Amino acid sequence: MRIERIELRHVRIPYIFPFETSVDRDEAKDCLIVRAWVDGLEGWGESPVTMKPYYKEETVETAWPILTGFVIPRVIGRTLDRPQEVVEWVAPIRRHYLAKAGLEAALWDVYAQRQGISLAAALGGTRTKIDVGMSVGIEPTIDAVLSRIDTWLGQGYQRIKVKIKPGFDLALVRAIRDRFGGIRLQVDANTAYSLRDLSRLRELDDYDLLMIEQPLDHDDIIDHATLQRALRTPICLDESIDSSEDARKAIDLGACTIINIKTARMGGLSEGLRCHAICQDRGIPVWCGGFLETGIGRAANIAIASLPNFTLPADLGASRRYFHEDIIEPWVEVNRDGTVDVPTGPGLGFAVVERLVDKYTVRKETFRAS
Ligand code: MG
Repeated sequence: MRIERIELRHVRIPYIFPFETSVDRDEAKDCLIVRAWVDGLEGWGESPVTMKPYYKEETVETAWPILTGFVIPRVIGRTLDRPQEVVEWVAPIRRHYLAKAGLEAALWDVYAQRQGISLAAALGGTRTKIDVGMSVGIEPTIDAVLSRIDTWLGQGYQRIKVKIKPGFDLALVRAIRDRFGGIRLQVDANTAYSLRDLSRLRELDDYDLLMIEQPLDHDDIIDHATLQRALRTPICLDESIDSSEDARKAIDLGACTIINIKTARMGGLSEGLRCHAICQDRGIPVWCGGFLETGIGRAANIAIASLPNFTLPADLGASRRYFHEDIIEPWVEVNRDGTVDVPTGPGLGFAVVERLVDKYTVRKETFRAS
């Protein structure tokens, strides 16, 4: 498979609902979309960078020069048999995982198409449907969160995750339990706490949560191990896990008992597969988180979430939950039983609508093999 041409785009699609975490608020989906031409086939991938370095250090404006100046020059014109080879080609570039992930995903899409199988099958997926939940951001009031939850439960989502921060946590969780009883509920702190908050975090043990996601620092596993020893509620790590090796160390240290796999955070689907395998070997369940991706990134998430150790519901909603129009066809739909079907067509299993990609493109650059 010779990589003949690569196109890079910055796209911006307005959200229907702005999304707020303990550290950020976004009105629109900004990301980079990568398109690769290989042996007459086209693959698409998404680098889920945002405009601000508040999840990881990367942004649209850091990923662009890393891709154009370093990643693409190492890849364009080369021949590969398997997408995993790209990981080695770009390994000398330190970190910049979100940037690398979009290109790697596009090559996985091509690879699966070339085999005539779905991306899910190419990755080793076994499920035909994915259990999905919905993530609710921080809202001005607890009542506003309850109202959102009511909507998503009504649409069949199997599990609710709420974003919390100090002062917007215990009363919120109590109100959710009072109103909605024993629903599957988890919380995500996006690093908003420290060990000084131990007694407050321990109070969350009373609410039978599926997990507390990333309560402490974005690069910590030591304090998380201390915290996990003090809590009954499982800790799930997200921001702290940049690779399968990070996952191995965190698990062996006792820093978490669940891992949120966002493959782009680890540099791509190949590293996500390694992380999945390490967790499976150690009996640690994983689930597929998200970056409120466009349909292109969402399709890749559906594919990886079909692997056997993704046993907890994914943060994977219907296209219409996020956007007035998505850039793939058909749109992602959530079934009444709170599942999303895994497509069986070649590659992503969705068609990318170029007209809409063009409509939302802010900037574009194309690279050709010499
Ligand atoms: Mg998270």
